[in-house]
Amino acid sequence: MKTTILAVLAIVATSSVEAFAPSSQTFSLASTSSSSSSLFSTVDDKTEVREYFNSEGFNRWNKIYSESDDVNSVQMDIRTGHDQTIQKILNWIKDDGDIEGKSVCDCGCGVGSLAIPLASMGAKISASDISDAMATEASRRATEMGIKNAKFYTSDLESVTGKYDTVTCVDVAIHYPSEKMGEMVQHLCSLADDRLIISFAPKTWYYVFLKKIGELFPGPSKTTRAYLHEESFVREELKKAGFEVAREEMTATNFYFSRLLEAKKKV
Ligand code: SAH
Repeated sequence: MKTTILAVLAIVATSSVEAFAPSSQTFSLASTSSSSSSLFSTVDDKTEVREYFNSEGFNRWNKIYSESDDVNSVQMDIRTGHDQTIQKILNWIKDDGDIEGKSVCDCGCGVGSLAIPLASMGAKISASDISDAMATEASRRATEMGIKNAKFYTSDLESVTGKYDTVTCVDVAIHYPSEKMGEMVQHLCSLADDRLIISFAPKTWYYVFLKKIGELFPGPSKTTRAYLHEESFVREELKKAGFEVAREEMTATNFYFSRLLEAKKKV
């Protein structure tokens, strides 16, 4: 037991900046705490997230979400975990076998890791990201693959409008403070005619512990501000919006943790 904890400490200490996967911002922890109001802290978060994913974060995540060899072992571990999450979603959709011609809205699409394969399966994709660099790269990758049934644009997810058969929001909630999570889930549900597929880093004692340890050892570019979410809270919000969880998955590698829920609108 002692050895395991030491090993975990050693790993997290050397790589806290990368831990908890989709975050890895160069944020200072101080700004998430008490003093600012929820609105201001969210505005700060959004500005920082946008700036990060338009600059240093774009370079880092564009590499992680690719086949580039220019990644370290932690980044490779995160790539593996994220690939597993994407594959689990694609498997659900393949099993259903009815995505062709359906509309899918992918919020926080990154470089198109989910949107592009869904477009290849025949879905009509409307995908957006708060970062112009990410959305532009997604569009470039789609064009390179000759995909025509996908539109990519720059937008924060709160500003996305319309109605879609399926709404997806994968590994984005890690950027949302808990007090904004309910609103986020409600908004995503309001866009979905049939289902919402959402993932988040779950708030369990073990991950909270790991995160705390990581924060004790800020890496070369400061530490990570990542938000974990109570699963029961997310489920409650889905229920409030008239959705019920139909399928679920958990993906965990050494540095990537993601709970995945598919929620169907009750008829
Ligand atoms: N869903 C993608 C990308 C995950 S990385 C995938 O699984 O491959 C997280 C992405 O969320 C980043 O591209 C970031 O720019 C985006 N993001 C963070 N906050 C956002 C917000 N409020 N609105 C839209 N996108 C956001």
